[in-house]
Amino acid sequence: MSDPYFRIANSALGRAALRRLSLPIPVPLRRYRPGEPLTDGPVLLLNAADDLAEVVHSLGVDVHTRTPPNGCAAVVLDARGVRSSRELDVVPRLLSPIMRSLRPHARVVTAGLPPNTAATTSAAVAQRALEGSTRSLGRELRDGATSNLVQIEPGAEHDAQSALRFLLSGRSAYVSGQVVRVTAAPEPPAPIDWDRPLDSTVALVTGAANGIGASIARVLSRDGAQVVCVDTPAQNDALRDVAASIGGHPLSVDLTDSDAADRIAAHLRQAHDGVDVVVHNAGITRDKTLVRMDADRWSSVLDVNLTATERLTEAVLADGLLREGGAIVATSSINGIAGNRGQTNYAASKAGVIGLVDALAASLRDSGRRINAVAPGFIETRLTARMPAFTREVARRLNSLGQGGQPIDVAETVAWLAAPATAGVNGQTIRVCGQALLGA
Ligand code: NAD
Repeated sequence: MSDPYFRIANSALGRAALRRLSLPIPVPLRRYRPGEPLTDGPVLLLNAADDLAEVVHSLGVDVHTRTPPNGCAAVVLDARGVRSSRELDVVPRLLSPIMRSLRPHARVVTAGLPPNTAATTSAAVAQRALEGSTRSLGRELRDGATSNLVQIEPGAEHDAQSALRFLLSGRSAYVSGQVVRVTAAPEPPAPIDWDRPLDSTVALVTGAANGIGASIARVLSRDGAQVVCVDTPAQNDALRDVAASIGGHPLSVDLTDSDAADRIAAHLRQAHDGVDVVVHNAGITRDKTLVRMDADRWSSVLDVNLTATERLTEAVLADGLLREGGAIVATSSINGIAGNRGQTNYAASKAGVIGLVDALAASLRDSGRRINAVAPGFIETRLTARMPAFTREVARRLNSLGQGGQPIDVAETVAWLAAPATAGVNGQTIRVCGQALLGA
């Protein structure tokens, strides 16, 4: 979808004019392209204990412990040792001096501890405080740079590799101001092909005919999965095109049909003998303020976005259809976190999706499976194209990156959460919103 402000900001004359007016200048983001190096330059490693240094070195990036002369493309600050509010000064002491040497699209990743694993109350307080500095730094960075916090449970350092790779790479272009918690995975990580982390897996994607779902199907296929693409019969042509473009299987099902979950489960069992990745992406909006909200608007949104998600989850969890090591990724929304005028139905459904993740994470972990959610912000699809022009323009700008995200940004995050190498991440909702102001 065209974004006129973005185009003006990226023309020579337009950029000069916006600078004079002190208006934000969104830049094209660095997005992952197969074959490209993980970072586009040196990584500065600060304060790192040996275990984290070993993990960062294993990423195959060019690691420095002093600022390289041409600046750095990424910074990893190990703040896991911060035990009190006084020791939090490690943040300004180590990060302030290097701020001016960050290259465009830089990644700043702070490593901390989950506060509940800290040894003392003051350490827990200090570790929680790092969330505030990380998020504020995200708001200060410019030129497509991001800031995120990885809380690594003691003993889970090797499981943090997947999160670090994601957050340092172009795959996380629209993810900023996030906290990712990594716990020790039940099984030690098997050797991983980082270019095809989903090799030999079967993935199901709902709502795969358009927008974010089509992009998820393509990215999962790029990463090695065989993809079953589900959408409504009304979208048959688009569904067939997406499935054909990735050698996937189109499955035409309206998720609100009473036998939808059983039909999908039967297909997965008969054609694939199970499934490794289930992505609940299908979703609709039917906006009206509560005073005008009729029963049909309410139930149609709840039916597709939440009830169908619950039913399909139940069906894939029955009889081990979701294989051991398998992952579910559900789609929430930042409006499910913050609420939004005219969306009591939609926000209820999307908050319910987070509730499903919260409710199932522990029991799935016990059975060697995982569930997480993504919460997209403003993503350029036909859903957002339907917004009134002024509202759309405002919504696009209200985030630290000053632009709407692309479907691929959500798809990359889903693929990362789905990958077996991300086994240490469970029960979380990761926002893909360019650090939107909403619900922050
Ligand atoms: P979209 O309208 O382009 O795609 C949604 C897909 O879901 C469509 O192909 C549609 O046919 C399918 N679908 C709807 N009802 C279905 C049903 N009953 N059975 C089977 N398939 C059905 O929308 P999108 O922008 O790509 O959104 C994808 C998901 O991301 C949705 O869950 C949406 O709520 C969520 N989301 C989007 C944004 C955004 O800014 N675009 C923001 C937050 C969350």
